[in-house]
Amino acid sequence: MKKPRLGFFKYSCCAGCEFQVMYFQKHIIETLTKFDFVFAKMILRGGNYHGPFDIALIEGTITEAWQADELKRIREQSTFLFAIGSCAIDGGIPAIKSTIPELEAEKKVYKNLSTIHSIRPHSVDAYVKVDGYIRGCPPGERDLYEALSSVIMGKKPDFLQYSVCIECKLKGNICVLIAYDMPCMGPVTNAGCGALCPSMNRACYACYGPMKQANGPALAKKFKLMGLSRDDIVRKFTLFGADSIEFRKAMDIYED
Ligand code: SF4
Ligand code: SF4
Ligand code: SF4
Repeated sequence: MKKPRLGFFKYSCCAGCEFQVMYFQKHIIETLTKFDFVFAKMILRGGNYHGPFDIALIEGTITEAWQADELKRIREQSTFLFAIGSCAIDGGIPAIKSTIPELEAEKKVYKNLSTIHSIRPHSVDAYVKVDGYIRGCPPGERDLYEALSSVIMGKKPDFLQYSVCIECKLKGNICVLIAYDMPCMGPVTNAGCGALCPSMNRACYACYGPMKQANGPALAKKFKLMGLSRDDIVRKFTLFGADSIEFRKAMDIYED
Protein backbone atom coordinates (compact mmCIF):
# COMPACT_ATOMS: atom_id res chain seq x y z
CA MET A 1 0.00 0.00 0.00
CA LYS A 2 1.21 3.51 -0.84
CA LYS A 3 2.32 5.45 2.23
CA PRO A 4 0.71 8.83 2.99
CA ARG A 5 2.99 11.68 1.85
CA LEU A 6 4.10 13.92 4.70
CA GLY A 7 5.55 17.43 4.34
CA PHE A 8 7.08 19.24 7.33
CA PHE A 9 7.40 23.01 6.94
CA LYS A 10 9.21 25.47 9.17
CA TYR A 11 8.57 29.18 9.62
CA SER A 12 9.87 31.56 12.33
CA CYS A 13 10.94 29.36 15.23
CA CYS A 14 13.79 27.30 16.69
CA ALA A 15 13.03 24.13 14.64
CA GLY A 16 12.68 22.25 17.91
CA CYS A 17 9.37 20.72 16.84
CA GLU A 18 10.93 18.94 13.87
CA PHE A 19 13.81 17.86 16.08
CA GLN A 20 11.27 16.52 18.54
CA VAL A 21 9.58 14.47 15.80
CA MET A 22 12.98 12.93 14.99
CA TYR A 23 13.49 12.19 18.67
CA PHE A 24 10.09 10.46 18.85
CA GLN A 25 11.47 7.79 16.50
CA LYS A 26 12.62 6.17 19.73
CA HIS A 27 9.03 5.70 20.86
CA ILE A 28 6.65 5.70 17.91
CA ILE A 29 8.80 4.34 15.10
CA GLU A 30 5.97 2.06 13.86
CA THR A 31 3.74 5.08 13.33
CA LEU A 32 6.39 7.33 11.80
CA THR A 33 7.52 4.68 9.31
CA LYS A 34 3.98 4.42 7.96
CA PHE A 35 4.57 7.85 6.35
CA ASP A 36 6.63 8.85 3.37
CA PHE A 37 8.52 11.97 4.52
CA VAL A 38 8.71 13.80 1.20
CA PHE A 39 9.75 17.20 2.57
CA ALA A 40 11.36 17.89 5.96
CA LYS A 41 14.42 20.15 5.98
CA MET A 42 16.12 18.75 9.08
CA ILE A 43 15.44 15.14 8.19
CA LEU A 44 15.94 15.02 4.42
CA ARG A 45 18.34 16.56 1.94
CA GLY A 46 16.33 18.08 -0.91
CA GLY A 47 12.91 16.49 -0.92
CA ASN A 48 9.75 17.37 -2.83
CA TYR A 49 8.68 20.82 -1.79
CA HIS A 50 5.78 21.04 -4.22
CA GLY A 51 3.36 18.39 -2.99
CA PRO A 52 0.70 17.18 -3.10
CA PHE A 53 0.78 16.11 0.56
CA ASP A 54 -1.57 13.84 2.45
CA ILE A 55 -0.49 15.55 5.65
CA ALA A 56 1.38 18.80 6.22
CA LEU A 57 2.91 19.64 9.61
CA ILE A 58 3.55 23.34 10.10
CA GLU A 59 5.92 24.64 12.78
CA GLY A 60 6.72 28.25 13.56
CA THR A 61 5.01 31.61 13.64
CA ILE A 62 4.12 33.55 10.50
CA THR A 63 6.24 36.71 10.70
CA GLU A 64 6.85 37.55 7.02
CA ALA A 65 4.45 38.03 4.12
CA TRP A 66 6.10 35.34 1.93
CA GLN A 67 5.47 32.79 4.68
CA ALA A 68 1.74 33.50 4.63
CA ASP A 69 1.70 33.11 0.83
CA GLU A 70 3.60 29.83 0.95
CA LEU A 71 1.40 28.52 3.77
CA LYS A 72 -1.72 29.13 1.66
CA ARG A 73 -0.12 27.22 -1.21
CA ILE A 74 0.69 24.28 1.10
CA ARG A 75 -2.88 24.27 2.42
CA GLU A 76 -4.22 23.95 -1.14
CA GLN A 77 -1.89 21.01 -1.78
CA SER A 78 -2.57 19.14 1.49
CA THR A 79 -5.43 16.91 2.54
CA PHE A 80 -4.73 17.43 6.26
CA LEU A 81 -2.78 20.28 7.82
CA PHE A 82 -1.76 20.31 11.48
CA ALA A 83 -0.12 23.17 13.37
CA ILE A 84 2.66 21.75 15.54
CA GLY A 85 4.15 23.51 18.57
CA SER A 86 3.18 26.67 20.41
CA CYS A 87 4.86 28.96 17.83
CA ALA A 88 2.50 27.73 15.11
CA ILE A 89 -0.54 27.43 17.38
CA ASP A 90 -0.48 30.52 19.63
CA GLY A 91 2.39 32.65 18.33
CA GLY A 92 4.86 31.11 20.81
CA ILE A 93 8.21 32.73 21.49
CA PRO A 94 8.30 34.87 18.27
CA ALA A 95 4.99 36.54 19.22
CA ILE A 96 6.38 37.90 22.51
CA LYS A 97 7.26 40.97 20.44
CA SER A 98 3.52 41.61 19.91
CA THR A 99 3.53 43.34 23.29
CA ILE A 100 5.36 46.32 21.73
CA PRO A 101 4.98 48.08 18.33
CA GLU A 102 6.54 46.16 15.42
CA LEU A 103 9.03 48.92 14.52
CA GLU A 104 10.17 49.23 18.12
CA ALA A 105 10.83 45.47 18.23
CA GLU A 106 12.81 45.57 14.96
CA LYS A 107 14.95 48.48 16.23
CA LYS A 108 15.81 46.53 19.38
CA VAL A 109 17.28 43.69 17.30
CA TYR A 110 18.56 45.06 13.99
CA LYS A 111 20.97 47.92 13.34
CA ASN A 112 19.98 48.28 9.70
CA LEU A 113 16.24 47.98 9.09
CA SER A 114 16.42 48.36 5.29
CA THR A 115 16.50 44.58 4.71
CA ILE A 116 13.87 43.69 7.35
CA HIS A 117 10.41 42.73 6.12
CA SER A 118 8.75 41.40 9.26
CA ILE A 119 5.03 41.64 9.89
CA ARG A 120 3.09 41.32 13.13
CA PRO A 121 3.47 37.65 14.19
CA HIS A 122 0.44 35.41 13.86
CA SER A 123 -0.40 31.77 14.37
CA VAL A 124 -0.96 29.45 11.40
CA ASP A 125 -4.76 29.44 11.75
CA ALA A 126 -4.84 33.19 11.24
CA TYR A 127 -4.14 32.41 7.57
CA VAL A 128 -5.41 28.90 6.78
CA LYS A 129 -7.84 26.26 8.01
CA VAL A 130 -6.15 23.88 10.45
CA ASP A 131 -7.24 20.26 11.02
CA GLY A 132 -5.75 20.00 14.50
CA TYR A 133 -3.17 21.22 16.99
CA ILE A 134 -0.16 19.23 18.17
CA ARG A 135 0.55 21.21 21.31
CA GLY A 136 3.60 21.98 23.40
CA CYS A 137 6.99 23.65 23.29
CA PRO A 138 8.38 21.28 22.30
CA PRO A 139 5.31 19.27 21.24
CA GLY A 140 4.20 16.22 23.14
CA GLU A 141 4.20 12.66 21.91
CA ARG A 142 0.54 12.07 22.73
CA ASP A 143 -0.77 14.73 20.36
CA LEU A 144 1.68 13.82 17.59
CA TYR A 145 0.68 10.18 17.80
CA GLU A 146 -3.01 11.14 17.82
CA ALA A 147 -2.64 13.31 14.71
CA LEU A 148 -0.60 10.76 12.72
CA SER A 149 -2.62 7.70 13.71
CA SER A 150 -5.88 9.54 12.89
CA VAL A 151 -4.66 10.23 9.36
CA ILE A 152 -3.76 6.55 8.95
CA MET A 153 -7.12 5.39 10.35
CA GLY A 154 -9.15 8.05 8.52
CA LYS A 155 -10.73 9.34 11.74
CA LYS A 156 -11.05 12.73 13.42
CA PRO A 157 -8.21 13.25 15.91
CA ASP A 158 -9.22 13.30 19.55
CA PHE A 159 -7.17 16.05 21.16
CA LEU A 160 -7.65 16.77 24.86
CA GLN A 161 -9.93 19.75 25.49
CA TYR A 162 -9.44 20.34 29.19
CA SER A 163 -6.87 22.00 31.43
CA VAL A 164 -3.57 20.82 32.90
CA CYS A 165 -5.32 20.98 36.30
CA ILE A 166 -7.43 17.94 35.34
CA GLU A 167 -4.33 15.90 34.51
CA CYS A 168 -2.68 17.18 37.67
CA LYS A 169 -5.62 16.11 39.86
CA LEU A 170 -5.81 12.72 38.14
CA LYS A 171 -2.18 12.20 39.16
CA GLY A 172 -3.00 13.06 42.77
CA ASN A 173 -0.47 15.94 42.91
CA ILE A 174 -0.47 18.51 45.65
CA CYS A 175 -1.59 21.81 44.09
CA VAL A 176 1.44 24.13 44.03
CA LEU A 177 -0.84 27.16 43.51
CA ILE A 178 -2.90 26.51 46.63
CA ALA A 179 -0.32 24.82 48.86
CA TYR A 180 2.83 26.82 47.99
CA ASP A 181 1.50 30.04 46.42
CA MET A 182 3.32 29.32 43.16
CA PRO A 183 1.81 31.19 40.18
CA CYS A 184 0.74 28.11 38.25
CA MET A 185 -0.79 28.55 34.77
CA GLY A 186 -2.37 25.08 34.89
CA PRO A 187 -6.00 26.28 35.23
CA VAL A 188 -5.91 28.02 31.83
CA THR A 189 -3.45 25.78 29.96
CA ASN A 190 -4.48 22.98 27.62
CA ALA A 191 -3.78 19.46 28.78
CA GLY A 192 -1.61 16.90 26.99
CA CYS A 193 1.71 16.95 28.84
CA GLY A 194 0.47 14.86 31.76
CA ALA A 195 0.93 17.81 34.16
CA LEU A 196 4.68 17.44 33.83
CA CYS A 197 5.78 20.49 35.81
CA PRO A 198 3.37 20.34 38.78
CA SER A 199 4.31 16.67 39.09
CA MET A 200 7.85 17.95 39.82
CA ASN A 201 6.55 20.54 42.30
CA ARG A 202 6.93 23.35 39.77
CA ALA A 203 4.34 25.78 38.47
CA CYS A 204 3.07 25.23 34.93
CA TYR A 205 4.26 28.03 32.62
CA ALA A 206 1.72 27.32 29.87
CA CYS A 207 3.88 25.84 27.12
CA TYR A 208 0.82 23.93 25.79
CA GLY A 209 -0.97 27.23 25.26
CA PRO A 210 -4.46 28.25 26.30
CA MET A 211 -7.28 25.84 26.77
CA LYS A 212 -10.33 26.80 24.70
CA GLN A 213 -12.45 29.33 26.62
CA ALA A 214 -9.77 29.66 29.30
CA ASN A 215 -10.63 32.34 31.86
CA GLY A 216 -7.35 34.26 31.65
CA PRO A 217 -8.61 37.39 33.48
CA ALA A 218 -9.67 35.36 36.53
CA LEU A 219 -6.22 33.79 36.88
CA ALA A 220 -4.49 37.12 36.20
CA LYS A 221 -6.55 38.67 39.06
CA LYS A 222 -5.51 35.81 41.34
CA PHE A 223 -1.85 36.44 40.46
CA LYS A 224 -2.33 40.15 41.17
CA LEU A 225 -3.75 39.35 44.60
CA MET A 226 -0.73 37.10 45.19
CA GLY A 227 1.48 40.17 44.67
CA LEU A 228 2.79 39.59 41.14
CA SER A 229 3.65 42.79 39.27
CA ARG A 230 1.91 43.80 36.04
CA ASP A 231 5.08 42.95 34.04
CA ASP A 232 5.34 39.51 35.63
CA ILE A 233 1.70 38.76 34.79
CA VAL A 234 2.08 40.01 31.21
CA ARG A 235 5.16 37.80 30.81
CA LYS A 236 3.26 34.76 32.10
CA PHE A 237 0.49 35.17 29.55
CA THR A 238 2.66 36.17 26.60
CA LEU A 239 5.55 33.71 26.93
CA PHE A 240 3.78 31.17 24.70
CA GLY A 241 0.32 32.59 24.03
CA ALA A 242 0.74 36.20 22.89
CA ASP A 243 -1.31 35.57 19.74
CA SER A 244 -4.19 33.84 21.52
CA ILE A 245 -7.42 35.67 22.37
CA GLU A 246 -7.79 33.72 25.63
CA PHE A 247 -4.43 34.90 26.98
CA ARG A 248 -4.64 38.40 25.53
CA LYS A 249 -7.90 38.87 27.46
CA ALA A 250 -5.95 38.43 30.69
CA MET A 251 -4.42 41.86 30.03
CA ASP A 252 -7.93 43.38 30.24
CA ILE A 253 -7.61 43.55 34.02
CA TYR A 254 -5.21 46.46 33.51
CA GLU A 255 -7.42 48.41 31.10
CA ASP A 256 -9.38 50.43 33.70
S1 SF4 B 1 7.12 25.43 19.63
FE1 SF4 B 1 8.96 25.48 20.88
S2 SF4 B 1 10.17 23.76 20.16
FE2 SF4 B 1 8.64 24.19 18.57
S3 SF4 B 1 9.66 25.60 17.17
FE3 SF4 B 1 8.54 26.86 18.66
S4 SF4 B 1 10.08 27.35 20.23
FE4 SF4 B 1 10.87 25.62 19.06
S1 SF4 C 1 -0.64 22.61 40.64
FE1 SF4 C 1 -1.27 23.89 38.93
S2 SF4 C 1 -1.99 22.43 37.42
FE2 SF4 C 1 -1.96 21.34 39.38
S3 SF4 C 1 -4.03 21.61 40.19
FE3 SF4 C 1 -2.77 23.25 41.01
S4 SF4 C 1 -3.10 24.97 39.62
FE4 SF4 C 1 -3.77 23.11 38.58
S1 SF4 D 1 2.98 21.59 32.99
FE1 SF4 D 1 2.66 23.42 31.75
S2 SF4 D 1 4.72 24.21 31.31
FE2 SF4 D 1 4.95 22.09 32.06
S3 SF4 D 1 5.02 20.85 30.21
FE3 SF4 D 1 2.87 20.94 30.88
S4 SF4 D 1 1.96 22.68 29.78
FE4 SF4 D 1 4.18 22.86 29.63
